[in-house]
Amino acid sequence: MKQVYLRVALDTPLDSTFDYRWTAQEEGGINADLPQIGQLVALPFGRQEVVGLIMDVVSETDVPPAKLRDVIAVRHELLAMNKEWLALCQFAAEYYQRPIGEVAIPALPRNLKAIKTVSLQRAIKKLAKLPEQADVSPLGEPQLNPEQQAAVDAVAQAEGYAPHLLFGVTGSGKTEVYLQTAAKVLAKTPDAQILILVPEINLTPQLESHIRARFPGLMLSTLHSGMAEGERLLHWLAAHTGRARIVLGTRLAMLASLPRLKLIIIDEEHDPSYKQQEGLRYSARDLAVWRARQLSIPILLGSATPSLESWQGAQTGRYRLLELRERAVQRAVLPIIRIINLEREKPSEGLTQRLTAAIKLRLEKGEQSLLFLNRRGYAPVLACDACGWISNCTRCTAHLVLHKGDHRLRCHHCGLEQRIPRSCPTCGNIDLQPLGRGTQRMEESLALLFPEARVFRIDADSTRLKGSAAAAFERVHAGEVDILIGTQMVAKGHDFKRLTLVAALNPDAALFSQDYRASERLFAQLMQVAGRAGRAAQKEGGNASEVLVQTRYPDHPLYHALMSHNYPDFAKDLLDERQQAHMPPFMYQALLRAEAKELETAITFLKEAALCTEHQGIMINDPIPMTMTRVANVDRAQLLVESVSRPALQAFVKAWIADLRAMKSRVRWSVEIDPVDI
Ligand code: ADP
Ligand code: ZN
Ligand code: ZN
Repeated sequence: MKQVYLRVALDTPLDSTFDYRWTAQEEGGINADLPQIGQLVALPFGRQEVVGLIMDVVSETDVPPAKLRDVIAVRHELLAMNKEWLALCQFAAEYYQRPIGEVAIPALPRNLKAIKTVSLQRAIKKLAKLPEQADVSPLGEPQLNPEQQAAVDAVAQAEGYAPHLLFGVTGSGKTEVYLQTAAKVLAKTPDAQILILVPEINLTPQLESHIRARFPGLMLSTLHSGMAEGERLLHWLAAHTGRARIVLGTRLAMLASLPRLKLIIIDEEHDPSYKQQEGLRYSARDLAVWRARQLSIPILLGSATPSLESWQGAQTGRYRLLELRERAVQRAVLPIIRIINLEREKPSEGLTQRLTAAIKLRLEKGEQSLLFLNRRGYAPVLACDACGWISNCTRCTAHLVLHKGDHRLRCHHCGLEQRIPRSCPTCGNIDLQPLGRGTQRMEESLALLFPEARVFRIDADSTRLKGSAAAAFERVHAGEVDILIGTQMVAKGHDFKRLTLVAALNPDAALFSQDYRASERLFAQLMQVAGRAGRAAQKEGGNASEVLVQTRYPDHPLYHALMSHNYPDFAKDLLDERQQAHMPPFMYQALLRAEAKELETAITFLKEAALCTEHQGIMINDPIPMTMTRVANVDRAQLLVESVSRPALQAFVKAWIADLRAMKSRVRWSVEIDPVDI
């Protein structure tokens, strides 16, 4: 038999694949199966043993024989990853300028990469024991309204690659469109797989139960980062073998292996959490669109406030626009949005009188109120009136946030924790004051103000324990809560039935953010949270649904657009602005970030970086410190490069990364394509 070498991708930043020697003897004799492209293989790497992915099987190698190492074992028990999946990883690797191994290997469940195969064996056995489920018929489909029906038909009847943007106001029944579109695709192709993405783990249980009820005869897989590793492997394997017919997950599910994928659905497609913010900084939405094109299948992007990128796509005809203009439930109408001018109506404990009165009305009728405050903790800062001391983090450009319950000052960026000082560290004053208010403080004030009400808080602190978030939302759904206070966690997707009042307590900060995307995000967030109100039919004698926004800037155009529920006009204005200012989506961007102990070092590196590569048609901006310059004792700076041509930018970045590597600087740096946080 001829000598065989495996060309393998490994999860290392070194930009290449690695060759290994494979011999039949190692694999149990002459009859051993030849390794295949797409199989996983255990290998020695340095002094470790790792798992790699076979990218090619070749008969010659440039590696000198003395340096060649033998594979340990090919994972024959696992079906090879198919070529479409490999192509997806290859595309992501090229697009985001990463070695293929840094894309493909992290996309696999951790237990699959263990050197011992016990977990894999166990998962395979477990999957084999599950009953065969292949009944694609949906149960209890409600009658769609004409707009929903038109949307379902458009997607289900589309041939080949067909991107659709489902623009539907909150409560317009987008979920029903997803489910019935899925049903049609399954009816047409009975062995089809369907991928449904949601932005937050917290939204999976709600949708999961809808899907299970609708398709009791099909296997459903869920994939998100909150799962135990064993469970994750089982669900991944169910998808990989084609047995899971519907796969529901967060952004990481975008890189799942789905050999029979026939439809992709992305709920709340505008949501920033579809963008991975570390490591491979990919956009799951963008990859989804690529994957749909590659597979020639339809993709449905749904939102009440589409991303400007997608909206622009629909305007130019790249995406087909489907609209749902009204709420699906009879007599459920969009809430009335009112602005409360904080300059005129002074709040007490964060609440204006009008808001307090509105909450009272809800309590009287047994309805729920939701207060949205995107700031967790008790107070954002502790201060001394006498000398001006404030609780700054010693390691970051940030304040230590006061957490009263566990008597801590805590940095939300580096995790630094201190006990709350009894007196001012500089002047000894014992009368330290919390400044501003977070969700904990609001919870406390609300409990004092409405002693008869059941006040409940949902934020990252209150839901730290596994499973506690699901339980918390369950309490709200079950009607055990009268006043809910929460961060953006409560704003998304949930279909609360008894909620008739939503209030945004203090949304202004985002209006003046340096990040040009902040207003787009704020608008989406407020529309989302407003959309939690009045989703059920208004009760006889009940309160009309209402949204109150407390602001110092009542005349801001964003709030005006919000009041009229007019996303299209708002989007048009923003797009015009972006076009004039040469910003995305009319411009393509990449960001070079640098980190060093001293800001100067990072800036100097970026200045050199700006000069190190020839460029044409590329605009290189000046290096600047990041808005939050210091995190965990590291200073951070960035350099933005832009071009009107994506290919030109891609070509430049590729050459640039090579040059940057050659600089061998001690500064830590990374390049991000299509950055969203600038
Ligand atoms: P969205 O995701 O668009 O905000 P949902 O999918 O949560 O809206 O739907 C809002 C409510 O409308 C849900 O309670 C859902 O059961 C109901 N609904 C959806 N479609 C219909 C329909 N065709 N007839 C009656 N009720 C519907
Ligand atoms: Zn002091
Ligand atoms: Zn810190």
